[in-house]
Amino acid sequence: MARPRLTLYRDAALAEARGPSLQKGVSVLVAGRRIVAMRPTSDEGILPPEVRVIDAGGSTIVPGMVDAHSHVTLPGGSHWIDRGFDPPEELLDVAERNGDLLGRAGVRWARDVGSPAAVDPRDGKKRALALRVRERWSRDSTRPQIRVAGTWIAHSGVLQPGLDIEADDGPALLAAAKVQLDDGADLLKLYLDGPKKEEAPWSAEDVRAVVEFAHGRGAKVTAHSGFLAGARVGIDAGVDSLEHGFELDSEAVAAMARQGTFLVSTLAIFRSWASFSQTTTIPRFAGDEGKERMARRRERAIESVRLAYRAGVRIAAGTDFGGGSLRANHLAWEVESLVEAGLKPWEALASATIQGGELLDEPDAGRIFEGGPADFFLVHGDPLSDPTSLWRVWRVAWLPDSFIP
Ligand SMILES: [Zn+2]
Repeated sequence: MARPRLTLYRDAALAEARGPSLQKGVSVLVAGRRIVAMRPTSDEGILPPEVRVIDAGGSTIVPGMVDAHSHVTLPGGSHWIDRGFDPPEELLDVAERNGDLLGRAGVRWARDVGSPAAVDPRDGKKRALALRVRERWSRDSTRPQIRVAGTWIAHSGVLQPGLDIEADDGPALLAAAKVQLDDGADLLKLYLDGPKKEEAPWSAEDVRAVVEFAHGRGAKVTAHSGFLAGARVGIDAGVDSLEHGFELDSEAVAAMARQGTFLVSTLAIFRSWASFSQTTTIPRFAGDEGKERMARRRERAIESVRLAYRAGVRIAAGTDFGGGSLRANHLAWEVESLVEAGLKPWEALASATIQGGELLDEPDAGRIFEGGPADFFLVHGDPLSDPTSLWRVWRVAWLPDSFIP
């Protein structure tokens, strides 16, 4: 067998997201897909003659990021909901384009929390499209690694009919959960907003039964939570994480911290919508009433994340791209939003790296270490003090050279 190609990234800074300070003058030696040495540039040791040296001077090495809330089969944009009804073949193409965008933006892992179901021509069975994407990408080391929740499970009257699996009582909820896991979902996604926003769609007992069932099968349960009533039920029922958490209070975050429940933040949605007030004529974004309503929800959502942060809740960063209006290369926007909500910049980067890996139970995800995968990218600037440096991607170690913009 041929020896793996050796590449040395010389004299970079290193941002590990474990504290506020960069390590400077670092050289990283990569063999094939693994990091074999990380040393001070002044002490690289003896290098084999065939090593290819990349002068990384002035750039910063950042662990490949984890987008903890994504929808890989959907494109995003201001008509994001309509796009969910595009033909399955088109959505699979969208996923490939999203795979490109994720990689070029330094995102190595994506947690897919809902995709439309479609008939798989290979066996005639209807299942979540993202499961097919996971299968394709698992065979291609340049693609993002994904974990998939299957299709959204919601009460009727909440999402667009035809997009989700509807369950109006406990037995139906449990049956829907079983179908998703039988189809091969890595986790379950319950939609804990009800047809009425002040009421959760199911009881804590109903949700707890699903959590126990999923845990028994080695899968986790996460819950979409736009409003407080649903958040309370999810927390009571012991879900592993809440998505969005746009309306949390001090009692809710205290319970989350105690139980170890993750919050997956998606605050950049509001920045995206605010941008649509300038770029579209859609009344809910561009009209005065719409703008006011969005601004109110945004304030409340930022306050929820701030409360969670202060209470010590573990926070992972997500874009909601596709299922919301962001695009697949916008995770830096969420890191910026977390800083606005009170996280220190290095903590916000940890939410997009180490914390995302913990949420996924993937010990290598979002980390960089000798012996680990060469899953890092290089930016200009110090992301430990300035999240906007994450937009300035120069190179991505896991992509072929030709790929780099
Ligand atoms: Zn979503």
